[in-house]
Amino acid sequence: MKTGVGPRGQQLPPELVQAIIAQLVPHATDPGGWTTLETIKAPGHWSNIQSCTLASKMLRGFSLAAWFRVLVLKEASDVAYCTEVLPLAVEQWTREILCLYADKQTVHDISGFKRLTRLYLDFTNEPRIWMIPFSNAPTSLTELHIGGHGWLTPMNLCAFTSSVPELRTLRMQLKRVWCHLCNLCNKIQFAGTIPESIIYEKGLGLPIHYANVLLTCRKLHTVVIAVAYTTDGSTTIGSSEKDNPNFWTGECDGCMSLMYKSDEFREKWVSSKKGIMYARPPALETVEWRFHPLMETSSTASDVSTSDVDGDDSGTASSAED
Ligand SMILES: [Zn+2]
Repeated sequence: MKTGVGPRGQQLPPELVQAIIAQLVPHATDPGGWTTLETIKAPGHWSNIQSCTLASKMLRGFSLAAWFRVLVLKEASDVAYCTEVLPLAVEQWTREILCLYADKQTVHDISGFKRLTRLYLDFTNEPRIWMIPFSNAPTSLTELHIGGHGWLTPMNLCAFTSSVPELRTLRMQLKRVWCHLCNLCNKIQFAGTIPESIIYEKGLGLPIHYANVLLTCRKLHTVVIAVAYTTDGSTTIGSSEKDNPNFWTGECDGCMSLMYKSDEFREKWVSSKKGIMYARPPALETVEWRFHPLMETSSTASDVSTSDVDGDDSGTASSAED
């Protein structure tokens, strides 16, 4: 087999060979969507590249790099196994990790993944796990995707993001949202017409405590927060950004009902969210909230309650009961 050698005996540029092999192993995620095991593009059959791994040292390197470019971890503790068994994948080949299960007790060091750029964490089936199961992310990490998290307090978030200074994009799919008035994670309850999304510019639009803990992410540019809502509340945000006079940024229905009765309080609070005394990551441009109706199932509406959570790292960070 003379793969990599042209008809006149000239070698193809390594970059071209690498691109050809990448076509044989279309292992990819969708950074614009919510990556899960179901949506990830699998690398296909090993037989597609097996001959390449045997042809030459260069082709073997390119083939294995393509094969391990996206690493799917069944559970967070697989980091230690991969480090021992697949050291080159950890140090050189892996660019993206999808972790399907978060260990309840242990945080795992991922500093060895020196070329990791995207980290996907899927909490969909683990609503009682509240902490991010990794620490010491490499400086190469620029995107963090958190899917299906039931309980993401600013402190949970900060425990990981404080060591990720190069983070550019943060995407979170949350079952409950942090309310910066009562310091609880609560369900979202709306009334009236709800838009599919609200987009805030110039770094505005985060719950204030999220903005504070993300200050260390000096290059953070985009935050996307997707939440499910019920329609049994009284909070209205209107059908478009112009109809959003309260500049809604995660406040729970209880706080809105109770505290917004005071026009004086409401005006001061909304003003502060628009800039006064509101620190935010310096490079942050876009904060997008995406909304979808809650599909009531046994594992969504009542999946988290105060008694379910083993750790409360703030003394105030707890969830309202259903
Ligand atoms: Zn509240």
